[in-house]
Amino acid sequence: MKDFELEDFFDREACDLCGDCLSRCPELSGKISDPVGAWSDIVAGIDSDRAARVLSGCSTCMTCSAVCHSGANPYGLILYRWFERTRSAGVPMRASLVMPLERDNAWHRVMAKLPADERRLLDSWGDLSRPELEPRALFAGCNLQIMPFMASPALLGDIPVFGREDLCCGEVYYRMGAFDKVATIAANLTETYSETGMREVVAYCQACYNVLANILPRHFGARFPFKVSYFGDVLADRVLSGELEVEGKLKGLKVTVQDPCHSKLLGAELRERQRRVLEHMGCEVVEMKHSGEMSLCCGLGQGASRFSPVDMTVGTVRRLREARATGAERLVVYCNSCDLLFSVGTQLTPFVIPVWHLNELICEALGEPVPRRNLARARSMVLALFGRGAPRVVSPRRFYVGS
Ligand code: SF4
Ligand code: SF4
Repeated sequence: MKDFELEDFFDREACDLCGDCLSRCPELSGKISDPVGAWSDIVAGIDSDRAARVLSGCSTCMTCSAVCHSGANPYGLILYRWFERTRSAGVPMRASLVMPLERDNAWHRVMAKLPADERRLLDSWGDLSRPELEPRALFAGCNLQIMPFMASPALLGDIPVFGREDLCCGEVYYRMGAFDKVATIAANLTETYSETGMREVVAYCQACYNVLANILPRHFGARFPFKVSYFGDVLADRVLSGELEVEGKLKGLKVTVQDPCHSKLLGAELRERQRRVLEHMGCEVVEMKHSGEMSLCCGLGQGASRFSPVDMTVGTVRRLREARATGAERLVVYCNSCDLLFSVGTQLTPFVIPVWHLNELICEALGEPVPRRNLARARSMVLALFGRGAPRVVSPRRFYVGS
């Protein structure tokens, strides 16, 4: 098994133990009475109650690394402590339902139930030997593979799409501290992509973008033959340059925006660009109580510390309530995971607010069809998790996430 050094994930020399990462944490501030002490224990690897409260309450929102004044990457330390836990004690069986490379997981179950038109699309994405992929190709990660309807030809233009179950970028595993698996994914992807002639990969999802562009090369030794870019940037350029004629087309629409966790590590400019696109289309943007780098997780990351569907539901409902409280007509997301979680949440709560992906709004402004299958897909995911997946959800057994 590969050795992972703590220093590769957290800069102990840079950390002055100021405790800001916890005192400014949107999830834990106010719940931790001694942030400096709790952080010092986590740094030292001391298994105290105050350290445990952090490690079992973290929602992986990544704010701590965005606000750390010394660039020490405190989020990396939390992941490293979870890695130690995962390697020594395994994880509950229910975690395997959301791990895209495990047997009979929820992603695969949702893909197996796709309508015929989306199934055909998905099947067409699997062949990596297509010459048209070489100059520039769009990577459809797990979240787009369960929502192929989101791949609007009007937005893609001439960019061909590829994606397959085995090409998972490993984000979910990374988020849970399953580093052994992430290292294997990095090695497998390096080998697979080295056999292609791809020169630019455009990631549809900002999480896949951060993992492929930064996390896998920086921490797990991946070497890709292509440059990685983000589809949201490609689209924003086309909108703001006027190539896509959407200016003022959604005039007066009041929206609020969910900033996804990885956007905090990718910088304020990426988040601002999404708002500029909305304003260019005529939308009025109102902010939630927690936004930008202080944004709360959509609920997905809530499951990473204790693997609890209850934690995830509570997180999703809480965020929907905040969105609803702004008075916005729609909650706009630019991450497919947020889209899925909020779509599940709108079926579980009276705090309903219509959830729209930014790309769907651009389609609407263009006058292009917007299939809006997100609610149906969310129902399919709930069935995969709590229908067929129920025995694993309640199982007391644990398993080791191998390499
Ligand atoms: S990780 Fe950063 S914010 Fe946290 S204690 Fe260290 S220096 Fe302060
Ligand atoms: S990742 Fe988010 S929830 Fe976890 S400690 Fe950092 S700021 Fe807090």
